[in-house]
Amino acid sequence: MDRIRIENLEVYAHHGVFPQETQKGQIFVINAVLYTELRKAAMADELALSTNYGEVCYFIDDYLREHTFLLIEAAAEHLAKELLLHFPLIERMELEIQKPHAPINLPFSSVSVKIERGWKLVYLGIGSNLGDKQAYIQKGIEGLKENPMIRGVKCSEVIATPPYGGVEQDDFLNAAIELKTLLTPYELLDFLHQLEAEAGRERKVHWGPRTLDLDILFYQDFLSNDLVLTVPHPDMENRHFVLAPLNELCPWYSNPVTGKSVRQMYLDLVRGGKKGDRQEEVQ
Ligand code: ATP
Ligand code: CA
Ligand code: CA
Repeated sequence: MDRIRIENLEVYAHHGVFPQETQKGQIFVINAVLYTELRKAAMADELALSTNYGEVCYFIDDYLREHTFLLIEAAAEHLAKELLLHFPLIERMELEIQKPHAPINLPFSSVSVKIERGWKLVYLGIGSNLGDKQAYIQKGIEGLKENPMIRGVKCSEVIATPPYGGVEQDDFLNAAIELKTLLTPYELLDFLHQLEAEAGRERKVHWGPRTLDLDILFYQDFLSNDLVLTVPHPDMENRHFVLAPLNELCPWYSNPVTGKSVRQMYLDLVRGGKKGDRQEEVQ
């Protein structure tokens, strides 16, 4: 992706663990690489279609002077988030904060932290089979849209699906959702649990009836398989109610574990006999 670089921007600010650092202040040196598409701005020769690097420099200067952090780790984390929220064309960024006058009584030229942060592409499954299902799904989507750390929320068509035979319960409404987020996978999961709780979700029976269920299907190329979070969602290949709406949103998206596209998984399931039988699905 195209990028804009800012090198060795000097800011006089007051970050540090020691009282003399917060009182007197010192120079911090900032390097940033902003990943963003520049083609449109270049073809139109139009600044409004790009990210104004001057504005970015003043934003960094203001932010680091107006806030005080103990750690440059914290300064970098918060600054990167604010930049990504304030300048919408920046997809991701590398940000380095150097502290050339850190209080270390040894010869050195600088210490620094460097982080990479950006908007991550996520696909969710959403479902409901209790109460006013359509309203719960709508409220869940609104909740996602209202979070400033989430943007670009798109929802597939909502489909009605019969439940798995084991638990006697009402039909489900299911859909898939695309979004971009600055939340980490675990922060996103916590937020989804919060939305489920706001919808009055109670966990009584495993795979039982629920007002709102939000699952992380894909989180960009992130992989995990621990007690809290398994991503990509392990059972998606067997679930018509996941793959049909997902195929509407992102047929060419590949499962980073198997390399199979959503479309291929969907076709394999639809054509694949018993495993794809809708009565055998698990919600
Ligand atoms: P399934 O995940 O098979 O669709 P479920 O949605 O009914 O089942 P829940 O009771 O909603 O399961 O969630 C149980 C736990 O699953 C959650 O507390 C969460 O920690 C964990 N979990 C693991 N991976 C994921 C994921 N990808 N998305 C959402 N929750 C997950
Ligand atoms: Ca689920
Ligand atoms: Ca779930």
